[in-house]
Amino acid sequence: MLARDVVDRLFPADLPEPAHWETRYPPRALPEGALVTRFAPSPTGFVHIGGVYTAMIAKDLADRSGGVYFVRIEDTDQSREVAGVTEQFDRAFDYFGIGSDETADAPYGPYLQSARESIYLSHVRELMRSGRAYPCFATREELEEITRRQTATKLPTGYYGSWALWRPGSAQADPAEVAAKLEAGEPYVVRFRSPGVEGRVSFDDVIRGRLEHEANRNDVVILKSSAPRGASAERASAQSPRLPTYHFAHAVDEHLMRVNLVVRGEEWISSVPLHLQLFESLGFEPPAYAHVAPLMKTDAGNKRKLSKRKDPEASVEFYLDAGYPAPAVLYYLRGLANGRLAELPLEQALAEPIRLAECGVAGPLVDMVKLADIAGDHIATLTGPRILDAVCGWAAVRDPELVEVLAANRELAERVVDVERVGVANPRKDLVRWSDFRGLYGFFFPSLFTPVTDAADERLGGLDSALVRKLTADFADHYTWSDEQPEWFGQVRELAARHGFAPNPKAYKADPDAYPGMLKDAANVLRVAITGATRSPDLHQVCGALGADEVIRRLRALVG
Ligand code: GLU
Repeated sequence: MLARDVVDRLFPADLPEPAHWETRYPPRALPEGALVTRFAPSPTGFVHIGGVYTAMIAKDLADRSGGVYFVRIEDTDQSREVAGVTEQFDRAFDYFGIGSDETADAPYGPYLQSARESIYLSHVRELMRSGRAYPCFATREELEEITRRQTATKLPTGYYGSWALWRPGSAQADPAEVAAKLEAGEPYVVRFRSPGVEGRVSFDDVIRGRLEHEANRNDVVILKSSAPRGASAERASAQSPRLPTYHFAHAVDEHLMRVNLVVRGEEWISSVPLHLQLFESLGFEPPAYAHVAPLMKTDAGNKRKLSKRKDPEASVEFYLDAGYPAPAVLYYLRGLANGRLAELPLEQALAEPIRLAECGVAGPLVDMVKLADIAGDHIATLTGPRILDAVCGWAAVRDPELVEVLAANRELAERVVDVERVGVANPRKDLVRWSDFRGLYGFFFPSLFTPVTDAADERLGGLDSALVRKLTADFADHYTWSDEQPEWFGQVRELAARHGFAPNPKAYKADPDAYPGMLKDAANVLRVAITGATRSPDLHQVCGALGADEVIRRLRALVG
């Protein structure tokens, strides 16, 4: 074992003892049964929708038990850090309501691992003093050689037992030599001296029950290399923190942040044996674990994990950019977590607790069609003003022109969102994402509408241009508004008859050459002139929302 002074010289002289941190972060004063959970994303890429799923579960459990949920940013892998990602995190947390409960006075902070260096170092030093951790000078080449020899002899790969070159007690790790190397400033990592249990260990998972897994035999790295990183590393390393690995930070942070339930992805199940060893060595009580099954998708008939690399819908930005309403996404995710919640109406499902006992062990399938249905149904229940506010919120940075137009025409906007939505048995549900708004409703707004001026435009259905112009002019000349749809439509019917269109398909089919087209072809001309499209919401309602002046203005544009 290394002498205490040799160990202590590796750390700042004023580094606090672990007891200091115990006092600084005392057990939380919470009622019995209150859960303390956290979401611990790494800023190495975009937030995965699976992260929102896991965080939503963690937050729900904490909040409903009278506990606390917080977000801890796991930025110990600074070489993989992606710029701008924390802003993206904040946007996503805000949107989906999964931000930390602890923001004001940050009682258990900092919540950024890179700002917790001295907390980790106190505990690394403590383990080194008692020989439960040790410096390791193995080079990359040596480690590769070890793996090569283990593979060749079909042994488990890793740094363990007699393969662990610098483990105290090995021939190489003579304390005097180790001390000399440290004194000389040779780069090293700190490794955990694993109790090296063979065979399998079992532990409990709140979702999965009793699990069995291969024990951990490896002396894993707990503190990353002291070597400067990269070319300009000398200067950088003077300022940049000396950081632990995920595993070590996990044990220290869950303990000192007083987390009692870790909700995380199932890919961490295999690390539990190591984590339990680390908690034990540090003298900490381990938290309960709930390993959540990953979100899946079907791809060419096969089920696979939603992939950050392959699937745009794996990224939270996808939902924010498209403007899926947050309650709809959360409702959908809750239903994936607990099937029971998918059976309830949205409001009720959002108010009901998520239960870990009902979380499946198999990854649930994300079905974007289903999500679109949910979003359409949800939007159909909102009031016009709420829809417009949400559209403006979405468009604020993405479509400022739309925000301006909606603000300048608020009354019209309120009329148009109610078209075929209010006072009808089957309200329209085509608005699924806020980004759909412009395409579906933009034509209502004079400044977003491009009038149709070419009488030969293909949307007009190939009718003779002169007829198109005559028909449109006639309609504009005699146009009057009526609240009554049949009466209003009567003028379309009469117009079509005046210009020789067949009143119905039957009459038309009996003698096609006798007519330029049917009633519906004449109506299409008006629809295209008024809406710019061959399909639109009910034309009577559209015209009502637009007002007669605007209807006539659009018709005249086509008359020429
Ligand atoms: N930083 C880890 C990750 O992003 C967190 C896992 C955990 O929740 O403990 O995968």
